[in-house]
Amino acid sequence: MNKYIFVSGGVCSSLGKGVAASSLGALLEGRGLNVRLVKCDPYINVDAGTMSPYQHGEVYVTDDGAETDLDLGNYARFTRGPLSRANSVTTGQVYDAVIRKEREGRYLGRTVQVIPHITDEIKSRITAVAKEDPDTDVVIVEIGGTVGDIESIPFLEAARQMIHECGKSNAISVHLTLIPEVAGAELKTKPTQHSVKAMQETGIQPDVLICRAPAMLDEATRRKIAQFCNVETDAVFTSYNITTTIYEIPLIFYRQKLDQVVLRKMGVESRHADLKAWHSMMDHFNAQTGTVRIGIVGKYMELHDAYKSVYEALFHAGLANAVKVELVKIDSTPLEESSKAGGILEERTVDGILVPGGFGQRGINGMVNAASWARENKVPYFGICLGMQIMVIEWARKVLGWEDADSTEFNQDTRHPVISLMEEQEPVVNYGATMRLGKSESLAEPGTRILAAYGNRHIFERHRHRYEFSNNHRDKISGSGLKLTAFTPDGALVESVEWPDHPWGLGVQFHPEFKSRPTAAHPLFRDFIAAAKERANRTTK
Ligand code: GLN
Repeated sequence: MNKYIFVSGGVCSSLGKGVAASSLGALLEGRGLNVRLVKCDPYINVDAGTMSPYQHGEVYVTDDGAETDLDLGNYARFTRGPLSRANSVTTGQVYDAVIRKEREGRYLGRTVQVIPHITDEIKSRITAVAKEDPDTDVVIVEIGGTVGDIESIPFLEAARQMIHECGKSNAISVHLTLIPEVAGAELKTKPTQHSVKAMQETGIQPDVLICRAPAMLDEATRRKIAQFCNVETDAVFTSYNITTTIYEIPLIFYRQKLDQVVLRKMGVESRHADLKAWHSMMDHFNAQTGTVRIGIVGKYMELHDAYKSVYEALFHAGLANAVKVELVKIDSTPLEESSKAGGILEERTVDGILVPGGFGQRGINGMVNAASWARENKVPYFGICLGMQIMVIEWARKVLGWEDADSTEFNQDTRHPVISLMEEQEPVVNYGATMRLGKSESLAEPGTRILAAYGNRHIFERHRHRYEFSNNHRDKISGSGLKLTAFTPDGALVESVEWPDHPWGLGVQFHPEFKSRPTAAHPLFRDFIAAAKERANRTTK
């Protein structure tokens, strides 16, 4: 029988519940267990696809095309288990399913209620993740929100029922709280006591506490917390503030024996811990010398979470290249004035430019100007999704002289729609105007940088976009020198472009950032940072 670990949070949000759940997952994988992670989100949106990046940060996309909460990105970076639509459960999905069943008459005339119908639906979604793979040992369920929120009550109730039904050693509760420091430098345990009380009121007694604190808690404080909160002293852990990297957290928890205690509580015999990959990642971290500055030119620059996977992938690429990557966030709107763009970019002294994905018209011309500057000054450039479309628009405007070249997303009346909807591109009629989502194959052309990066012609990456490189303009654009370097296997769609006579200018229509890991940097990010590092070395000499 597989086990369940419910990870909840108290006191306030942003304590790093997702990273804690993922780190625990990494440690249990290190012990040879087959781990799955599930995120329960109390919001009523069915998925994160319709949410603005300002609301909830990046939309993470799974192989099967689910548009999920960015916590799934954490799971993907820390653990190896596959992620799909099933790993993200929202209140919206749960109610949607229950109401649909009710309309179909499947409740046989009964009154449909939160308990048991909503909670049953939540439970069946959680157990479905374990059932998907019979070899699953542990399912870690992260419950979004903070205990005490109205929204998360049904999820906590479902967790309580599962703990009751599965039995103590088959389902445990890990609760994250905050230990604040009050002026006078005293650490306060009261909020943690209240938070555990709130958990107990839901009927759940936490088995393990992870306390977010400014520094490692001493033995006496842990004992006090244990006594007040009804947990064992060795089950009180500290998630202290770190100056290194969040990827050290699995090792920090390991040193405190979190995995040993969790295994003991679940009655799993302790086995050898293999954390080689994490130790070697930290060796790489400590070996980093020098810095490359990467300019991210996008439109959601104020909010770090909006491009979370991109930033993380850049960090991983820094580990792979033994160099620190400094993120230089550049709002594209002020770059819209062509005469000023070059000056602004020079001033920021960047060694590479990355234009990430995005939707809508604001700031587009600024991105085009940034691409021109990178192409003309031979600055490494990496375009992701919208960033590749920008490369094509820039090329068409500057090299082919089609001044009005554009994507029909931004200008429907352009005479040169170099990026457009497939249905607008006669005679191809097979692709509708729905978003292309999830994993698909691309074939890399021989002699290209993209093939050099992957070392394999067959590339599998995830998409999330609506517009495509226009086949009506394919011949003219490639004839004028822009290299089209990867296509869908049927040749119908352009998946990647590269600048000729340039140190590293590459754009991809898919999202490689979703598959990068700290222990295995994504090849495209790795090569982009290698090129930026080469430029940095040259310019400082
Ligand atoms: N807005 C563009 C499209 O829909 C790009 C999307 C993206 O960058 N994810 O095609």
